[in-house]
Amino acid sequence: MCGIVCYTGSEQALPLLLRGLQILEYRGYDSAGVGLLRPEAPLFQQMRAVGEVQRLIDADEVRRAMPATCGIGHTRWASHGRPSVENAHPHQDCRGTVVLVHNGDIEDHLLWRTRLKTRGHTFRSETDTEVIAHLLEEARASGLDPVAAIRAALKDLRGTYALGIMFVDIPGTIYLTKLSGSLIIGKTPHGMFAV
Ligand code: GLU
Repeated sequence: MCGIVCYTGSEQALPLLLRGLQILEYRGYDSAGVGLLRPEAPLFQQMRAVGEVQRLIDADEVRRAMPATCGIGHTRWASHGRPSVENAHPHQDCRGTVVLVHNGDIEDHLLWRTRLKTRGHTFRSETDTEVIAHLLEEARASGLDPVAAIRAALKDLRGTYALGIMFVDIPGTIYLTKLSGSLIIGKTPHGMFAV
């Protein structure tokens, strides 16, 4: 089983997320990544690496990371698509409006991938996870608020998921949902975590 770590609060998110990913290493994984979100430009930054969390920690992008107090992290155990930087989480939609991390498997992802490509979406990874990002993009573009968009995007998918989702136009907020798997929310005096 792989891992999700989310943080939003008043502290810098990146060190907390990286420490959280290290704590989850015992579960096993093949790659790791972090996405950061903030209200000022640049709004979003992501960093991903194949192999140990330490390789992510040592990556140039991490040393050059922007300050941000909201972010999501992931250790991936590949189920769809080989272990690679492109397949590591977080994943985004075509326009970079939504970014998410996912534990679980979307069983009918090939069907959705074909449908979404027909509707003009461009995929950047081989993962099942990426279909969720594009479905969320469509749902938001149709005018739905974030919670309604998440419900709409997930309602016809077959499979299992725990998801940490950030919308780039809503900095500071992480949306969580799960079907099977686990996702635990924790509150501290400086912010909130989900693991
Ligand atoms: N199915 C997703 C993937 O292959 C998530 C795997 C996981 O739970 O780590 O990228």
